[in-house]
Amino acid sequence: MIADPRRAACIAIGDELLRGDYPDANSGVVAQKLAELGLEVDRFVVAGDDEAQLERLFYELTHDYQIVVATGGLGPTLDDVTRYAAAKAARVAIERHEPTVAWLREMWSKRGREMPESNLRQADFPVGAQIMPNRCGTAPGFRVWIDGGMLAVLPGPPSEMRDMLERELAPWIESTCGRGPALVHRSFYLIGIAESAFADRAGEWMARGAAPLMGVTAHTGILKVTLRARAASREHAQAQLDERAAQVRERFAAELYSESEGRPAFAVGSLFRERGKTLALAESCTGGMIAELLTEMPGASAVLRAGWVVYSNEAKSSALGVPPELIERHGAVSREVALALARGALERSDADVALAVTGVAGPDGGSLEKPVGLVWFATAVREGAGVRAEAQEMRYAPLGRSTVRRFAAHTGLDLLRRVVQGL
Ligand code: ATP
Ligand code: MG
Repeated sequence: MIADPRRAACIAIGDELLRGDYPDANSGVVAQKLAELGLEVDRFVVAGDDEAQLERLFYELTHDYQIVVATGGLGPTLDDVTRYAAAKAARVAIERHEPTVAWLREMWSKRGREMPESNLRQADFPVGAQIMPNRCGTAPGFRVWIDGGMLAVLPGPPSEMRDMLERELAPWIESTCGRGPALVHRSFYLIGIAESAFADRAGEWMARGAAPLMGVTAHTGILKVTLRARAASREHAQAQLDERAAQVRERFAAELYSESEGRPAFAVGSLFRERGKTLALAESCTGGMIAELLTEMPGASAVLRAGWVVYSNEAKSSALGVPPELIERHGAVSREVALALARGALERSDADVALAVTGVAGPDGGSLEKPVGLVWFATAVREGAGVRAEAQEMRYAPLGRSTVRRFAAHTGLDLLRRVVQGL
């Protein structure tokens, strides 16, 4: 089998990665860069500083992939073995590269220090390798052909790796392999819909072979939907993408809140600002989180009038005028109290819209009737001389206090979005 054209693999090398000391920050960056060049990375491997294992890995992966990019293990110490493994996989000897020796000596003398002999290892490369200079550190990288595939080795420290990738490897790939098929992508952010419900409604759009390819990730109530189109020309890829994007906008009009901004508070805040509307908050179980998320947005002062964190029953009554009997009769987590909180916040601020959130975040405090994860929301809007208020409940899975609170904050923001869209 010859290397499959236009596919690539990444190898992150280092015992520390396997021990879990830090996560691999390099392979993702390499994959993104290669995708821009039309090369699809479809495999990440993490490997230790083990010469025999690396040799086998280099040999096997260059057999299956046109390009294999490895990072790490280029240092001067005995535990850095990547160069030796590469030479063995390529069936060539190691040779000292004199220009690199001179460069290393100069680097050290500029610092006014004598170079330790062990640094000379960084001037050793497989015979025939093309050397890629390092402008940010002392370990040059290199490229070496192994049978039909190209192994490129970059230094492990992410800043050095990125610089060499940009300046040395990417231009070489572009000039040697040419630009592959164009790849374009676009993201959509949705809220108020479960991942499984999205999949049902998206249907065939999510099939593995679909063009464009659709992917979804979910995070505390927010879905990020990504479309990726690949075609011979950029125009074709873009046309494919635009067509599906229009269909997504239509089918998910109620849930789609942004195509550029993942933070729902920013999207909602901007919507309020565009429409010249203001809001007030009465938060119990979210403890001010919604206010916090909204005030992260520059220009929040044009939108947020006031927020109350009314955690105790007394505060709900004294600060926002919820009658104690109402709390006594229905409990603090109830439709009635949520509505009264929203009305109270609207009355006490001059905002156009008020949102109230009251729920059982857990881990304690749940009951059969009001389990952990039950949250009541209410919105109040001025309408003529009066107020229109609506309430709704959500029952989140008891996935832990902070998750329930974050889910609740996101739902609250979604309700605000729906209300302001209707104004
Ligand atoms: P050096 O000359 O600095 O030793 P090197 O090429 O030998 O460079 P490594 O020894 O593998 O690289 O790693 C050096 C440091 O770079 C690590 O301690 C770690 O902080 C960082 N590093 C290496 N690989 C990765 C990776 N995949 N993701 C994130 N950080 C990494
Ligand atoms: Mg090292």
